[in-house]
Amino acid sequence: MTWETVIGLETHVELATKTKIFCGCTTEFGGAPNTHCCPVCTGMPGALPVLNERVLEFAVKTGLALHGTVTRRCKFDRKNYFYPDLPKAYQISQLYLPIVRDGALEIPLAGGGTKAIRIRELHMEEDAGKLVHDPWIDQTRCDYNRCGVPLIEIVTEPDFRTAEEVIAYLEKLKSTLQYLGVSDCKMQEGSLRCDVNLSVRPAGSAELGARTEMKNLNSFKAVSRAIAYEARRQIELIEEGKRVVQETRRWDENKDATFSMRSKENAQDYRYFPDPDLPPLELSEAYLERLREQIPEMADEKAARYQARLGLPAYDAQMLTGQKALAGFFEAAVALGAPPKQAANWIMGEVLRRLSADGLEAKDMTLTPGALARLIALVQEGRINRNTAVRVFDAIFADGGDVDAYVAAHGLEQVSDAGLVEAAVERVLAANPKSVADYRAGKEKAFGFLVGQAMRELKGQAAPQAVHRALGAALKQP
Ligand SMILES: [Zn+2]
Repeated sequence: MTWETVIGLETHVELATKTKIFCGCTTEFGGAPNTHCCPVCTGMPGALPVLNERVLEFAVKTGLALHGTVTRRCKFDRKNYFYPDLPKAYQISQLYLPIVRDGALEIPLAGGGTKAIRIRELHMEEDAGKLVHDPWIDQTRCDYNRCGVPLIEIVTEPDFRTAEEVIAYLEKLKSTLQYLGVSDCKMQEGSLRCDVNLSVRPAGSAELGARTEMKNLNSFKAVSRAIAYEARRQIELIEEGKRVVQETRRWDENKDATFSMRSKENAQDYRYFPDPDLPPLELSEAYLERLREQIPEMADEKAARYQARLGLPAYDAQMLTGQKALAGFFEAAVALGAPPKQAANWIMGEVLRRLSADGLEAKDMTLTPGALARLIALVQEGRINRNTAVRVFDAIFADGGDVDAYVAAHGLEQVSDAGLVEAAVERVLAANPKSVADYRAGKEKAFGFLVGQAMRELKGQAAPQAVHRALGAALKQP
């Protein structure tokens, strides 16, 4: 029997606001334990929450960018549960009237084409604290710095069929959030983490199987591997005639397996009720319109513009717009005079190569768009050749040095004096009579060898065409 995997995703995104969702405490990551707290975010009796307007703004903008319907009258609810990382014993969230419903995000498919992933809802909520387990003294300590950090939770319909589709969605979502400037999306710091709901069913069946939920996956690698493992586990269970239990499972990175945590709770287990401390929100059409106008040009629109206006191939346009910082770098280099296709080639080739080798993200790059534009100009003017340009690029990439100063200091400018090139060719011919004889006897390979020798004589700083020309002319003479 062939099986189909059905996956839905709940993604938690920490918003890049300066302060928490209901108080003035900083949202900065880290800090000494329990130093970013106050009576509101630690749930002291009598403390009253006040909504951070920026959180609402970010949630609405994200909803609009995901083509969702914004709930004009929405409110907050209390989700009650006891856990040591939640000092209030309830989380302020939205159950009945989430801020956004019915959105969609279009993802590229591996075989070409796109697929729309439906977004059921997006709601605002607060994050919980962190428990730090200390195995040495067999104690668990509570750090409440993260309590009240604003989150949006984005819930999809069960529209994914493969891990690749899930990764494509997460990449597109990350890029969308970064374009909007609503989150830094640092997965290693937990700013973007997701719960994967997964079930399997016979291919072609319309019914959904019993699903399990894997919580808090915080890397693309963990998501892929957890999906592969859990789909296999469920298929094996069913093929053995057993039943999949609806439950929450924990993904263990080190053991490469999922483990049962608890049976899946339903909404009624949390005794949700409207939070009496926070008045319902009424959003006017004018407010939505103002936020809609603030949404910047997004990746898909940029990609379309790069193709139509700058003449870039679809592949280049998609690569460059995949990360906001990369697109910004490209546009700045072009604005400084770099021809678009050449700038695109450099960015997709050398820049991405170095970023990956150095383990950096485009937004943390020190190389300036001006330096790249200058490098391209020097090659175009014939002052350095392409190989030298890559050498200069590598040298200045990390410290953001000056292109012209580096070329001058290292004497890298190309030999453009035809006389110098001819003299070098003559020296090479005189030193390699056997290769000259071979070439004249019809051995084409000897020509390449002589070009290499001449380039070496010129310390690699001549235009290859000039060397070819001079060598061809010299060999024609008897
Ligand atoms: Zn606080």
